[in-house]
Formats: sequence, C-alpha cells, structure tokens
Amino acid sequence: MANIKRAIMVGIPGVGKTTVVNKVVETIKKKNLAVESIIFGTVMFEEAKKLGIKHRDEMRKLPIEEQRKLQINAAEKIAKMETDFLIVDTHLMINTKEGYWPGLPIEVLRALSPSNIILIEALPNEIVQRRMRDSGRYRDLIDEAEVTREIEMARSMLSATGIITGAPILIVINRENHIEEAANQILKALGVI
Ligand code: ATP
Ligand code: AMP
Ligand code: MG
Repeated sequence: MANIKRAIMVGIPGVGKTTVVNKVVETIKKKNLAVESIIFGTVMFEEAKKLGIKHRDEMRKLPIEEQRKLQINAAEKIAKMETDFLIVDTHLMINTKEGYWPGLPIEVLRALSPSNIILIEALPNEIVQRRMRDSGRYRDLIDEAEVTREIEMARSMLSATGIITGAPILIVINRENHIEEAANQILKALGVI
C-alpha cells in the first residue's frame, strides 16, 4: 500500500530536522514498515549542480526565479515517490537576500499533498549553538534575537500550510540531547507507536 502517511517536516536551519528525521526513519525501519525520507534540498541540489552550484548552501543565494525552478522541479520529483511512510525534510521559508521566501508555496504543497505537517522547534540559544557546532555546513550565523524572529516567521507561514492542505500540524520541541523524545512524538502522530 502506498502513502499511508506523507509527512512534511519543517523548521528553521540548524534546529535538528535531519537529525530527528533520521531517528524517526530508523525506528520505522525496525518495525519492518516501508519508509523513505527525502531531503528536499538534496533533490534541488542534484539539479543545481548542473548549473555549476558547488554547495547546497549556495542555492539560497541564487536569483529567486532560479530557485523557484529548482523548487518546482524537486516538488514534482518527490510527488512521484511511493512508499508507506514518506518523510520530506524541508523548510517553510528560505532566507534570501530579497527576504524570507516561501519554501512551501501553494503549488509545492499541492504537489506534495501531505497528510501531516510537522514543525520542529528548539530554544533560540540552542539553535545558535547547533549552527555554530556544525562544521559541514555554511549556515547563516545569526544571533539569538534574529533566530527568534525566524521562529516567529516560521510559525506565521505554518498556519498557511494547514489551511491550504487541510493537514494537521504538530509542533515538536527538539530538546538538547533528547532527540529520541522528539522522534517519539512524531512516531505517535504517524501512528507508528
Ligand atoms: P538544516 O535546515 O540547515 O539542514 P537541520 O534542521 O536539518 O538543519 P541538523 O543538521 O539535523 O539540523 O542539526 C544541526 C546540528 O544540531 C547537528 O550538528 C546535530 O547533530 C545537532 N542536533 C540536532 N538535534 C540535537 C539535539 N536534540 N541535541 C543536541 N544537538 C542536536
Ligand atoms: P537543507 O539541507 O534542508 O538545509 O536544504 C538545503 C537548501 O535547499 C536550503 O538552504 C534551501 O536553499 C534549499 N531548500 C530546501 N527546501 C526548500 C524548499 N522547500 N524550497 C526552496 N528551497 C529549499
Ligand atoms: Mg537538514
């Protein structure tokens, strides 16, 4: 049976989406259920490499129209994925030089057609620390006040995704060193545990 659940996982950069998603997938696999997770940014990056983009964190510096093409292309590819549990790791908004740009505009939401929308949050100071610790990424290093503004902006974009899709919205706090606790809340919401 395909697509029992199609969850979209969102949250500001460095909050711990990919870490929590990996934990969720690990647990679903242990139950011998068919699960796939996909990082939206990775699907975009595969295409962006053809344009000479060298790193995933360069994409948000491209002109919006270039990013939009990559975004729609990724949404169409992900829409074709069929598995019992599909988890899409992505962003409500992208911090571009023109301002906060929606990661989930209506056409992307329609293509992804989620059953669940899950926002990962954490304390602003923990997010600042997580961004600084993560040497493999070129994250925007901003202070706690700006991280707080990003969290507020994410919440305001979140309500629109619920209205457009009719999917339930779950907000999960990814507490420092409590990844399993965050993963368990998601697993419960998806009916796995
Ligand atoms: P991006 O949107 O930029 O891809 P992300 O939300 O996927 O970021 P991760 O890459 O999963 O974030 O995590 C950022 C950093 O925070 C990583 O170094 C990860 O190990 C760490 N981290 C994630 N969750 C926790 C947690 N609960 N406690 C401590 N460290 C954490
Ligand atoms: P990530 O690894 O999740 O940080 O994704 C890498 C990059 O992919 C982000 O910084 C964005 O530039 C891009 N990206 C991810 N999701 C989306 C989305 N839904 N819409 C537009 N760009 C996205
Ligand atoms: Mg990530």
